[in-house]
Amino acid sequence: MSYCDSRFQTIRRRTVEVMVGGVGVGGGNPIRVQSMTTSDTQDVAATVKQSIALAEVGCEIVRITAPNVAAARCLKDIRRQFTAAGFGSVPLVADIHFLPSAAMEAVEHVEKVRVNPGNYADKKKFAVKEYTDADYDQELARLHESFSPLVKRSKELGRAMRIGTNHGSLSDRIMNRYGDTPLGMVESALEFLRIARSHDYHAIMLSMKSSNPKVMIQAYRLLVERMAREDMHYPLHLGVTEAGDGEDGRIKSAIGIGSLLLDGLGDTIRVSLTEDSVYEIPVARAIADKAMSLWKTPNAKVQTPNSSETDSIDPYHFSRRETSRLQLSAKCAVGPEQPPRVIVRVGAVANLTEAAKQLTAPRLKDTPAEGLLITLGSEADIAALQGTAAALDLGVEFLALELAPTLTPAALAGLLAASKGRLMLVRRFGAGETSLFKEFVALVRGHGHFLAAQIEPEQFAPYEDVLRLVGDPGLLFALPGLGDQAISAHATGAYRRLVEHLKTANSKAPIWIRNTAAAAVHGDNSFLSKLLEASFLTGGLLCDGVGDLVSIETEPDVTRATKLTYNVLQGAGARISKTEFVACPSCGRTLFDLQTTTQRIRAQTGHLKGVKIAIMGCIVNGPGEMADADFGYVGGAPGKINLYVGKNCVQYNIPQAEADARLVALIREHGKWADPEPHQLANA
Ligand code: SF4
Repeated sequence: MSYCDSRFQTIRRRTVEVMVGGVGVGGGNPIRVQSMTTSDTQDVAATVKQSIALAEVGCEIVRITAPNVAAARCLKDIRRQFTAAGFGSVPLVADIHFLPSAAMEAVEHVEKVRVNPGNYADKKKFAVKEYTDADYDQELARLHESFSPLVKRSKELGRAMRIGTNHGSLSDRIMNRYGDTPLGMVESALEFLRIARSHDYHAIMLSMKSSNPKVMIQAYRLLVERMAREDMHYPLHLGVTEAGDGEDGRIKSAIGIGSLLLDGLGDTIRVSLTEDSVYEIPVARAIADKAMSLWKTPNAKVQTPNSSETDSIDPYHFSRRETSRLQLSAKCAVGPEQPPRVIVRVGAVANLTEAAKQLTAPRLKDTPAEGLLITLGSEADIAALQGTAAALDLGVEFLALELAPTLTPAALAGLLAASKGRLMLVRRFGAGETSLFKEFVALVRGHGHFLAAQIEPEQFAPYEDVLRLVGDPGLLFALPGLGDQAISAHATGAYRRLVEHLKTANSKAPIWIRNTAAAAVHGDNSFLSKLLEASFLTGGLLCDGVGDLVSIETEPDVTRATKLTYNVLQGAGARISKTEFVACPSCGRTLFDLQTTTQRIRAQTGHLKGVKIAIMGCIVNGPGEMADADFGYVGGAPGKINLYVGKNCVQYNIPQAEADARLVALIREHGKWADPEPHQLANA
């Protein structure tokens, strides 16, 4: 494994320590939590006030935009007043795009400077141009000249620097040679890193942000792999940019940041939300705490099939794991070309009627619970289910029955024979139960039902032969928890090991990701904790192409659990059930009120399933981040909005009061509008 020491447990990547003022990042330091002010930087009082508010809620590093030299000059007063208020130990970072002159001013006043290699000393033209090797070398020489003064001055003053690549703002040079790919992002950072190293300057950290968690995960992994080849160990700043707000923003951030932290990558994090920045800190703190709890796990040698550490998932490119097809009902299948299916835990048989009623309400038409999971603890439960199911038209595609170990195939035969709909038996098989496993396989196949087998990875080896013998039909696999914690320290690792075992057994059986309390990394019973856990496990696996069914069983409210499952699927890009919003968190460059605008646009367009709308405070990252958005709403000038279709600006400088209506008209014009249905109005 070239970018991390194990994909099955969290072994923290070894990095050098970089000091940002008095705060160490990387090395043996905890994961540092940071955020950014959103005020106009030249409004010194407002920026100091926001910086204090952030520091008071636990922000360890505060970033402030410096869009021009005048704003960069203000950093001097901001630093002085922030220190005078008692926050001298909290470092400040200047965020620079485009202007070396602003960077040269800012570096005098604050502990760290962030540069964007996509636009430092570059006016982005989105030019399509072929760069010959000579052209390219000439560009690099120009870059060396314009970036070196900042490097040298940072070294003299003992300042730190972040080379912060954004997927949305790669240079024309990089775009033309590599495209807007994870490789292009990595090469963009390496160009700057080489210049810094040529001056023997090493107080550097790097980031590879994107609004698409899959892209950012791949880019960070690739960056580490490239750095490791050259024996470079700079810390990483993690973030998903333009994640949006509310549940969706938290989920997207947790998928991207959490996946990498579980792999042992990441030293400082920022959760970008289109909300007041103080709300970012508790989310970032909870993510960091979960990840750091895994560092305590002893680095036991990982046991994998054939005793060698294999991982057949490609960490740098997305491809969905190939599976066989399971037809769960006339309308609902699992497998190739099928979206991950949603299962909701309803608990005891007695809850079934009420849960089915809630979940089949018209307002949930776009987010149906396809399977209901109930527990069968005894033969009395089987009898109760037969009575209930016969009396009900449940309105769901299938029932999953989690069996107590005491229930034998014989006890279940009557239920399976009589059932009109298809049933999925869910049973855990331990060491020495391979014969019983075969009996269950025969039972479900005899009646056209399914078996979800739960076998801990460390007990899987004897089942490989059985599986080769019986084949895939009617079978799927799930894991109830972590397995042996000394081997798979987190459920993601356990699922990855399950993938390896299935591969060894030549099985393409689908995989059901179960988010249970036993699979959780660490945390309390809050909704935020459950959301983050689900994003880490489900989102992370889906971004690696693993997972065909999903249940979030930690949330007892069935409607909320269903909604959360769909939101995680949407965050991972695995199943789209509503409009996708890409919204920047806002900063001192923002040209309109991002929060109210996002809410207003969501209220009008949130029912347009599959349409992607980007809402950006300014042009810095705008057009690039909107590369795969259908429509863009971007601050062009104070009070003026530019509207985009894809990457192209089609309407310039519209008065803001008219911009919503013009956006809707544009969506109509491009055939992507649909009037909301009554159930969608109820959800608005
Ligand atoms: S896109 Fe938003 S967060 Fe990024 S620089 Fe512009 S206003 Fe600031």
